[in-house]
Amino acid sequence: MAEKTVARAVERMFRIAVGDEARSLDGMAKALSRERGRPLIVLHDAKLPPGVFGQWVRRPDHDEVSCAAWVHARDRTIAHELGHIALGHFGRPAIDLATDFLPASAHDLATLMLRRDCTDTYSVEEADAEAFGSLLLRRLQDTRGSGNPAIRSRLDEALG
Ligand SMILES: [Zn+2]
Repeated sequence: MAEKTVARAVERMFRIAVGDEARSLDGMAKALSRERGRPLIVLHDAKLPPGVFGQWVRRPDHDEVSCAAWVHARDRTIAHELGHIALGHFGRPAIDLATDFLPASAHDLATLMLRRDCTDTYSVEEADAEAFGSLLLRRLQDTRGSGNPAIRSRLDEALG
């Protein structure tokens, strides 16, 4: 796994983020979208094939990132999908997808070829996207945490 590549891609997210974008996952999605010059839509309650927790579909004029409705770790899943985009991964070949539960009538071939379904199956790209997602969320938390130290320390005192 390419740890340096993942770390660099996360660093880059914070460089392209403007203002408050670096304080939330939604903001990061906006920054990535602007940088790519393509709209990026995030769907939080998507109906995905069984076992698929997240998905990235490259449509001709926009990107669509989805998190399955049953997933508890929504942010983690969205961050993972942003990782695939930021790391320049591509969707699985259509031949693989043909074995899945996709109703073929619902998607044209071009869309199938550019669609990535994420499952727990191990692959280098899945591991890298996962590492990206977890690093991105950790960095976002740090950024938020350092937002107002005075209030935080008072809160810490109050909470004992
Ligand atoms: Zn994935």
